[in-house]
Amino acid sequence: MVFAKKKWGQNFLVDNNLLEKIINTVDLNNQSEVLEIGPGHGALSEKIALKTKNLTMVEIDIDLIQSIKQNLAISHFPLLNQDILKTNIKDIDISNPKVIGNIPYNITSPIIFWLIDNLPYWDESFLMVQKEVAQRLVAKSGTKEYSRITVMTSLYFDIKICFYISPNVFKPKPKVDSAFISIKKNNKYDINKIDTKKFSQVVRMAFNQRRKMLRNSLSSLNINHDKCSVDFQQRPEQLSIDQFVDISNNIIS
Ligand code: SAM
Repeated sequence: MVFAKKKWGQNFLVDNNLLEKIINTVDLNNQSEVLEIGPGHGALSEKIALKTKNLTMVEIDIDLIQSIKQNLAISHFPLLNQDILKTNIKDIDISNPKVIGNIPYNITSPIIFWLIDNLPYWDESFLMVQKEVAQRLVAKSGTKEYSRITVMTSLYFDIKICFYISPNVFKPKPKVDSAFISIKKNNKYDINKIDTKKFSQVVRMAFNQRRKMLRNSLSSLNINHDKCSVDFQQRPEQLSIDQFVDISNNIIS
């Protein structure tokens, strides 16, 4: 057994009921293509392998690569020893996969932004994340959980919390509760008509000073206020996604 490495967020799943619950939620069939982030020793990969023959795994830790190579249930599947954040899905021999992972919690946001960067190349995603992060991802405007990551992801995704998970199903046990979430693309916004760089700049500036009114936190931007359906005396958590889009579309560059 390989010792769990903190730096790579290694908390391994050891509860068969939970693994079954995950696999039932993901709902795979024998045509499904799956990209698994961080297979670890393969607890979840083994369950995926019972459903489909199209599984590719990306694992950063060479010691765990050795462990998977000795696991006959999954050793025959493609296994890439690399950092998922430096991986482009389009470079992998896989077509429109479901991206599944009990991911390292310290890189949850980078993985979510990685999903945005790889947007055209995957179908849907299921991730295990820290409970509080999940609650931020699904937060409604006007709440304290509504934050930069809520707004950024809402432009692209519909995110749902499938269920919560106690620390007891992991070894070693994490200090936090977890949630299993589903991420589907919403296609609500025509991304080609939005300057996503400006959108992201507005959202970042607004939430960096979330107690300030927008007219102060965004004061360095040249915004055509008259064209925006936004009250700039409000604070960022009071704005809808459409209003953030509205502001970013009315920046005079
Ligand atoms: N899937 C296994 C399970 O559920 O038991 C392991 C989950 S563990 C929380 C996270 C896994 O992601 C570890 O195997 C870790 O080595 C791997 N990992 C961490 N950072 C990674 C990265 N940047 N790219 C790919 N894998 C990574």
